[in-house]
Amino acid sequence: MGRLNEKNAVVTGGARGIGAAIARAFAEEGASVTIADVLCPEGEALAAELGSSARFNRLDVTSAEDWAATVANAEHDHGPVAVLVNNAGVVDFGPIEEQTPESFRRVLDVNLYGAWLGLHTVVPSLRRAGGGVVINISSTAGLMGYANLGAYVASKWGLRGLTKTAALELASDGVRVCSIHPGPILTPMTAGMDESITADQPIPRYGTPEEVAVMALFIAADATFTTGSEFVIDGGATTGNMILAQD
Ligand code: NAD
Repeated sequence: MGRLNEKNAVVTGGARGIGAAIARAFAEEGASVTIADVLCPEGEALAAELGSSARFNRLDVTSAEDWAATVANAEHDHGPVAVLVNNAGVVDFGPIEEQTPESFRRVLDVNLYGAWLGLHTVVPSLRRAGGGVVINISSTAGLMGYANLGAYVASKWGLRGLTKTAALELASDGVRVCSIHPGPILTPMTAGMDESITADQPIPRYGTPEEVAVMALFIAADATFTTGSEFVIDGGATTGNMILAQD
């Protein structure tokens, strides 16, 4: 018996990276999974690999029309949506002074507005499912500041706040809403970054998408007394600094 048997799940940004690992983990535990992404060939290939309980749906998370179609298609095929993972995200680097308004708005649009639009669209389906779980993939950038990541940090703090509000609003419908806060995870998003950024962590390495998926599965399937909660998976990066421990 899978831990997510008969659960219908939608994973945004599910074509690669952390989202793909979550889609795979959910499917392995018996869920029907909609992989929702703008990356069509990658998403279709993953859906084919996962078998008949998985489907790909092209979704730009900033489009209300795309969201309505994605939820309707998922519900048509597998019944009301019981699990939504708002994972789609983009990053853009640069100091506040140099970042363009277009770049700032784009990051906020995908990372925050896109997740809000997902919640906004899926709530009636979650109610029809008799309750469910929403997992918002924030970041350690939703817990602290990072230089040269102003838009990303703002979006991830916003997502953390949205999580709290949604948890309060939806508890009476049996819907739990939690955030995950990964530190550096090895994915296409971080592929060009220097591994030395992990050197000061208590666990000095990149995490894997599969390690994040374990946490998402726990929240979706097992963590029945949690809502509005922040789950940090960062190799200890936000624990404190180790400067005084050094020679
Ligand atoms: P990734 O770039 O490998 O994957 C992101 C996915 O989101 C891609 O498949 C992409 O096509 C999709 N996406 C982007 N814009 C979209 C849109 N408008 N509509 C639909 N899909 C869209 O990155 P990842 O590392 O797997 O990141 C997944 C999530 O985890 C993101 O929200 C990211 O901010 C967060 N995160 C990542 C790290 C890390 O170190 N990799 C750390 C903390 C948080």
